[in-house]
Amino acid sequence: MQIVNPATEEIIQAIAEDTADSVQKKFTMLRAGQPAWAALPVEERISCINRFYELLDKEKDTLAATLTSETGKPLQQSYNELNGARNRIRYFLDHSARYLSEEWVVTEGATREKIVYEPLGVIANISAWNYPYLVGVNVFIPALIGGNAVFYKPSEYATLTGLHIQRLLFQSGVPENCFQVVTGKGMAGEWLLDLPLDGYFFTGSYRTGRYIAEKVASKLVPCQLELGGKDPLYVMDDVEDIDKVATAVLEGVVYNNGQSCCAVERIYVQESVYDDFVRSYTEQAKKMVVGDPLDPATEIGPLSREAQVAFLLGQIGDAVEKGAKLLYGGKRLDRNGYFIEPAVLVDVHHGMKLMTEESFGPVVGIQKVKDDVEAAALMADTEYGLTAAVYSKSYERAERVLKQLNTGTVYWNCCDRVSAGLPWSGRKHSGLGMTLSYQGIRAFVQPKAYHVRP
Ligand code: NAD
Repeated sequence: MQIVNPATEEIIQAIAEDTADSVQKKFTMLRAGQPAWAALPVEERISCINRFYELLDKEKDTLAATLTSETGKPLQQSYNELNGARNRIRYFLDHSARYLSEEWVVTEGATREKIVYEPLGVIANISAWNYPYLVGVNVFIPALIGGNAVFYKPSEYATLTGLHIQRLLFQSGVPENCFQVVTGKGMAGEWLLDLPLDGYFFTGSYRTGRYIAEKVASKLVPCQLELGGKDPLYVMDDVEDIDKVATAVLEGVVYNNGQSCCAVERIYVQESVYDDFVRSYTEQAKKMVVGDPLDPATEIGPLSREAQVAFLLGQIGDAVEKGAKLLYGGKRLDRNGYFIEPAVLVDVHHGMKLMTEESFGPVVGIQKVKDDVEAAALMADTEYGLTAAVYSKSYERAERVLKQLNTGTVYWNCCDRVSAGLPWSGRKHSGLGMTLSYQGIRAFVQPKAYHVRP
């Protein structure tokens, strides 16, 4: 499999892909290794992960350079991702022992009762490329701490990062028969679906996620899905500093080149502040520096793959054909690499793909709304349910809108953020189950109920 740098279109490296046979061998090894790992005191597993946490910092320059070379994200954003991943690991290091310890619920009387949390066994972690460290650690860290063995399938667009992760986990003391990377494209993931694994934890698109859920349904094992979104953001007429709001919203649209599951994907603005918002947003979008992700001045790097350029141009074309006005951007840069200017479109409506289908790029439509009722109805008009944001001076007013939305996360005066202490979950086509928070520690274990008569 060839690993291509999306900023230059050059081949960085060719690596050997797993085969059905090698995957089967790795499975046999993981199945054999998992019980001994689970039998260790949780503190020992935590200290291995603590060493991994330290190594991520020690090797950050190499890791960030690799991440940028294979995904195209600006180098500073690669460092930010490593820092963010370490923050999440810190949360798991600090909280796992508490949430994995046995819990006595009845300690007196004839029958005493307790809950013991046992690992699931050998689980699959099939992962996305856009934040390989962040979405990876959501799964493989609590899974390992919980006593599971992990079959880790990095995206084919983040394979070198996946191999670094494996190397550093082994260096940290995680046994080779408790963590194995599977390299390859979709087919390598497919082999995992055929194995008798004890849980499937997937991050990626709705299309692949639904396929996986259907394929593994008859196994009756946990299957969690963290999928895409079409996340709305609403600017109310009482915001005080429209330029500041536009800066924050633009960052929510274009950070990581818009390739975030919780990126702002559609904007609604109340009539009286609409013109000012559009002017400020567009002026700021024009100033964004698109270019070489290794240049510290760069804010937007290339898209991860060539097909995504055509996909976004298609969404823009569909919108313009249906009456949208392209105020700025949306053109492919005339150079090597998969570069596109950030795009700002107005006069948009929900008959356009731009406003209904996940874009996963630095393009956005801005729609004028009369009031909170119209905004809430438009925000709710989606098959997805990941996040939604409202900017307003009034928390009460924002909350009235946010309460009506069927999403796993809501934001007041912020957007496009994830916290280790809060459950991360999508509703409807954005997913099933959750990671992070104490619930994301318990997602990788199963409770056993003990009825004990002394
Ligand atoms: P993708 O669905 O194309 O691929 C995800 C993973 O699935 C890859 O490792 C891929 O090799 C594997 N895969 C593909 N076909 C498979 C098959 N038939 N069987 C088993 N595995 C298979 O997604 P992507 O392009 O890597 O990621 C982008 C998507 O992920 C976006 O929709 C984004 O919103 C979503 N995402 C969601 C979250 C979240 O937390 N909700 C986080 C990051 C990304």
